[in-house]
Amino acid sequence: MAGEAQADCLFCKIVAGEVPATVVRETATTVAFRDINPQAPSHVLVIPKAHYPDAASLAAAEPVIAADVLREAGEIAQEDKVDGTGYRIVFNTGAGAGQTVFHAHAHVLGGRGLNWPPG
Ligand code: IMP
Repeated sequence: MAGEAQADCLFCKIVAGEVPATVVRETATTVAFRDINPQAPSHVLVIPKAHYPDAASLAAAEPVIAADVLREAGEIAQEDKVDGTGYRIVFNTGAGAGQTVFHAHAHVLGGRGLNWPPG
């Protein structure tokens, strides 16, 4: 069924506590943890606990949870004190755009200058 945990999904395993992660925030619907390979001084991933393969499918099925993810991204930027200088929320979608984990996640990046357009 849509949203159910997938046995072969790394981020479902983090939600279940089966894979360790440096969790910075958790709500009833989301988990946020430090990226294992940070691309900026502050690099946090915010994921829905429910499994959807990407942000668009999450938003289509569970718009309230998609909004939860965005709200948590803003809270993290405040907690990591990168909101004042600016930060970026990124949803890589599809392998061609760099998505490697097919469980919806927002990258929250800040603490350095961020160029536009991204590579
Ligand atoms: P994507 O490439 O947009 O799918 O982002 C996946 C992100 O997950 C990458 O930035 C990885 O560094 C990160 N990542 C992969 N495995 C782990 C882990 O076990 N803990 C935390 N972050 C991870």
